[in-house]
Amino acid sequence: MTPTRDVRLLARESVRALPLYTPDGAACAIDLSDSTNLWGPPPAAIRALAAAPSTIVARYPTVRSSALEPALLRYLGLEGTPEMRVVTGCGSDDVIDSTMRAFVVPGARVAFSAPSFSMVPVFARLNGLEPVAIPLTPDFDVDAEHLVDLDAAITYLCAPNNPTSTGLSRAAVEYVASRANGIVVLDEAYAEFAPETFADLAGRHDRLLVIRTFSKAFGLAGLRVGYGVGTEGLVSMVERARGPYKVNALAECAALASLEDVTGGVQWVREHARLAVRNRDRLSAALVDLGLAALPSTANFLFVPTSRAPWLARRLRDDGILVRLFTDLPQELRCLSAAGGAALRIGVGPWEAMQALLDSLSEMPCE
Ligand SMILES: *Cc1c(COP(=O)(O)O)cnc(C)c1O
Repeated sequence: MTPTRDVRLLARESVRALPLYTPDGAACAIDLSDSTNLWGPPPAAIRALAAAPSTIVARYPTVRSSALEPALLRYLGLEGTPEMRVVTGCGSDDVIDSTMRAFVVPGARVAFSAPSFSMVPVFARLNGLEPVAIPLTPDFDVDAEHLVDLDAAITYLCAPNNPTSTGLSRAAVEYVASRANGIVVLDEAYAEFAPETFADLAGRHDRLLVIRTFSKAFGLAGLRVGYGVGTEGLVSMVERARGPYKVNALAECAALASLEDVTGGVQWVREHARLAVRNRDRLSAALVDLGLAALPSTANFLFVPTSRAPWLARRLRDDGILVRLFTDLPQELRCLSAAGGAALRIGVGPWEAMQALLDSLSEMPCE
C-alpha cells in the first residue's frame, strides 16, 4: 500500500520553505531587468559555436574545464602567481553553492551585506546554513568590522554590489579578507565595468575565492559559465563539492574562444563594457532631469530607490520595457527608507533602448 501522504512533506524543510525563483515573467520587447550584455555575445563566441564539430555533443566535456583554466588566469593577470587555480561551474551561482557545500557544516552562518545578491540567503538556506545580513554603511561600503565580528563560516562580498550598483573600498575588502576566520567569497560578476577589481587579492589570502562569470560583460548568460579563482587548497575543495562535468562542451568552447580571440573576444568585451559605462552615465544624468536619482554606479546597471517604483515598473511594462522591481528591500540606508524599501534596477545597453526608456518615463506624470 502506498501511504497517503503529500509528497511535498517528504522534502527537506529548508527546501519547502523556499519560494520558487520566478523573476518578472512576461517577455518584453526591451528587457533591462537582468544586467546581461544587451549588445549580445562576442563575435568569437558565435563563430566558435557555429564551427563546433557535431561530435562535441556526443562526448563528455572535460571534467573540470581544464582548457579554460590557463586562459582565465591569463585574463585575470594571475598567470605568474604560483598556486593559483580556477574552478568553473554551471554559472557562478554553482560556484557559490559548491563553496558553501564544501566548507560549511549545517547550522553555521553565512554573513553578507544588505541589500546584496538575492541568491546568497537562498543558497545558504538550501545548504542548511543561517544567513545573517549586515546593512551597508551610509556610503554604500560593506561594514567590514561587523561582518568579521559575526565569525561566519562564509563571508560573502559583492563588488560592484548587486542590486545597489555601488563599489566597495579596497580597505574594506582587504580588512575582511585578512581578518575573517572562515572562507571569504568575493563576487565580481560586474568587474569588467568597475574602475577597480580585487582579483589580485586572491593570490595573497588563501581563504579568499574571487568569483566571476561569463553571464554579464561576456554576454553568455544562456550558456551558464562561471568560475572562481583562489589558491590550490581552497579550489580543490570547492571542486570536490562541485562534482564533474558542470560546464557543458559547447559552453566551454564558446567561453574559450571569447578569451583567446583578441579582436572578436576580450577586446570586443572591453569595448562594449566601456560603451555600457558611457551610456550608463548619460542615462543617469537624463534620469535626474526626470526626478529620478540613481545611486553612483560602478556596474552596467542603475539602481533607483523611489516609492513610485511599483507604479513606474507597471507603466514601463505597458510600454514594452521590463526593469527589475524591488519592493521589500531592507531600509537601513536612508535612500531606501525614504523610498519605503522600493527601487528599480535598470540594465544599461545600446542607446536606442535607453532612449525608449526615457521617452516612456517622460510621458509619465511627476511626483
Ligand atoms: C548575475 C549575477 C551572478 C551570476 O551569475 P551566473 O549567471 O550564475 O554566472 C552572480 N552574482 C551576481 C552578483 C550577479 O549579479
